[in-house]
Amino acid sequence: MKVVVMGAGIIGVSTAWYLLEQGHEVTVVDRQKDAALETSFANGAQISVSFCEPWAHPSAPLKVLKWLARDDSPLLFRPKLDPHQWRWGLSFLTQCTHAAFERNVTQLVALGRYSHESLKSLVAQTGIEYDRLERGILHFFSSTRDFDAAAAGVTLMRRHGVDRRVLSRDEVLKIEPALRSFGEHIAGGTFTASDESGDARVFTQKLARLCQQRGATFLYEHDIVGFDAAGGSVQSLRVGDQLSGERRTLKADAFVAAMGSFTAPLLRPLGIYLNIYPAKGYSATFKLKHPERASVVSMIDDTRKIAVSRLGDTIRVAGTAEMAGYDTGLESSTSRVRCQALVRRYEELFPGVADTSEPHFWAGLRPSTPNNIPYIGRSKLGNLWVNAGHGTLGWTHGAGSGRALAELMSGVQPALDFGFYGSEAGQGLRVATA
Ligand SMILES: Cc1cc2nc3c(=O)[nH]c(=O)nc-3n(C[C@H](O)[C@H](O)[C@H](O)COP(=O)(O)OP(=O)(O)OC[C@H]3O[C@@H](n4cnc5c(N)ncnc54)[C@H](O)[C@@H]3O)c2cc1C
Repeated sequence: MKVVVMGAGIIGVSTAWYLLEQGHEVTVVDRQKDAALETSFANGAQISVSFCEPWAHPSAPLKVLKWLARDDSPLLFRPKLDPHQWRWGLSFLTQCTHAAFERNVTQLVALGRYSHESLKSLVAQTGIEYDRLERGILHFFSSTRDFDAAAAGVTLMRRHGVDRRVLSRDEVLKIEPALRSFGEHIAGGTFTASDESGDARVFTQKLARLCQQRGATFLYEHDIVGFDAAGGSVQSLRVGDQLSGERRTLKADAFVAAMGSFTAPLLRPLGIYLNIYPAKGYSATFKLKHPERASVVSMIDDTRKIAVSRLGDTIRVAGTAEMAGYDTGLESSTSRVRCQALVRRYEELFPGVADTSEPHFWAGLRPSTPNNIPYIGRSKLGNLWVNAGHGTLGWTHGAGSGRALAELMSGVQPALDFGFYGSEAGQGLRVATA
């Protein structure tokens, strides 16, 4: 089958790889000069099968309300005159029940586990190197009340077969001694040894090269501008070549929409309404001055809801979310406050370890669904497939989402219990989000 994959982020490139594995002919289209130059560029680097709880939790509405006025809050909802944002917000509220939370976690763990297995096999098969560290993920708490509440999450994950465990302060410091100077502020932590970290951009770009070597065509610097549909299927894709200015149409047997946050607006003219809204997040990457004193275990600082990951001789600090549209700029006062908050916090945690005077700031748009469950499956147009809406976990779920979609497209049932988009179970599970 001839397949056009739209989008060369972690999701599109993983899909392309597994489509090649299934023997298909693949063309990937992206507006950037290379793969992974948008949301997959500088994320928190965590392969986080265990720490996968969605934002939509019974405690979330009150927290979001409290945070409305704070520029440096972990989750900032900036109401706009945008019906898609309001629809997303209302669906989010319907997901903030215990029953929905439990159901969503079940699916996220299933996809995470399948994805982790897929990633490990892919790495073993290809030998791709991407500053991978198989050191687990450590979640530490500065507030005793939040630490006490974390036990519920541990019980939940253990019920799902994930080996997350509770740690005393001393155990936290034993797992990551680099936290020692902050030690007196740590109430305790949780840890999952099987989670890992690595650079999503490097991985995606290397996988894209391997896809090319296996015969896939990459049309970079091509804007996807629209579709020609007739008779219940997509006939062709309209693209604009940025270099020549020419418009052309691409024909194929099947099309995969993997354009992150932009998937929703691009599919709307086809009558396909995906409840995906961008959640802007930030990262700061620092060169290390003292690599020997820097952390190697990937971690989450619960107070600030930020991830800290070691990538070679650099450190990445990433986090925060802003529901405020499609802007990725770093110039607004909110952006500056958020970026500086990352720098300040890193210095509080690890004083003098990195050169924080010249941070590399970045912002990306998490393609978020109200329950953090992505759309993976077939749209109502028979040959148009979707792989989008991976929110906070696109790197974690990348390999598995690509593999599962390629399997579905090849008539193979993926070996995981998941509500695929377009399937009966998928519709049932996503009443509030479809
Ligand atoms: C601050 C932050 C921290 C994060 N940390 C983690 C983490 O630790 N672990 C984790 O698992 N996930 C993390 N994530 C989430 C993860 O980065 C995303 O879920 C993932 O990158 C989404 O991948 P994608 O391929 O769907 O989107 P993208 O990487 O954005 O890819 C979409 C592609 O589509 C292309 N495109 C879009 N529109 C068009 C068009 N009209 N024409 C042509 N091309 C187009 C874009 O150029 C882009 O290359 C984080 C995200 C952020 C923002």
